[in-house]
Amino acid sequence: MRIGNGYDFHRLVEGRPLILGGVHIPHPLGLLGHSDADLLTHAITDALLGAACLGDIGQHFPPGDPQWKDISSILLLQKVLDLVRAENLALVNVDATVVAERPKLAPHIPNIRSSLGRALNLPERCVSVKATTHEGLGPIGEGLAMAAYAVVLLEGG
Ligand code: MG
Repeated sequence: MRIGNGYDFHRLVEGRPLILGGVHIPHPLGLLGHSDADLLTHAITDALLGAACLGDIGQHFPPGDPQWKDISSILLLQKVLDLVRAENLALVNVDATVVAERPKLAPHIPNIRSSLGRALNLPERCVSVKATTHEGLGPIGEGLAMAAYAVVLLEGG
């Protein structure tokens, strides 16, 4: 068994879609980044890389590389899952937390779990996504940014 953790943080800005776990969430602001800036998917991707000792997301998909501009982070996640599988490691489960003051994410959690389950080829009972706020404090609490944490468990290798 191998565990990995991932963390990501992005600014919220006008004129960008808000994508979490591959799901478009209606909101006046979106996450700023080179790809689609899906920070939940980035945190899970980094957790997979960490569990497999394969570096980090920035090494595999350098920001600024034109081939990753506006790309779906779900595609990056699936590329990393292929690398993990090539090490004879299989994903057992994912647990992730999104930290966001708004919008309220609870109504979107079922769609996000389903989207990530499809991307990871895992049953939804093995894909946990939670949401919490920052109690109005700091850049996340002021609605200027979001963060995400993820842990994954791999077996095999
Ligand atoms: Mg990121």
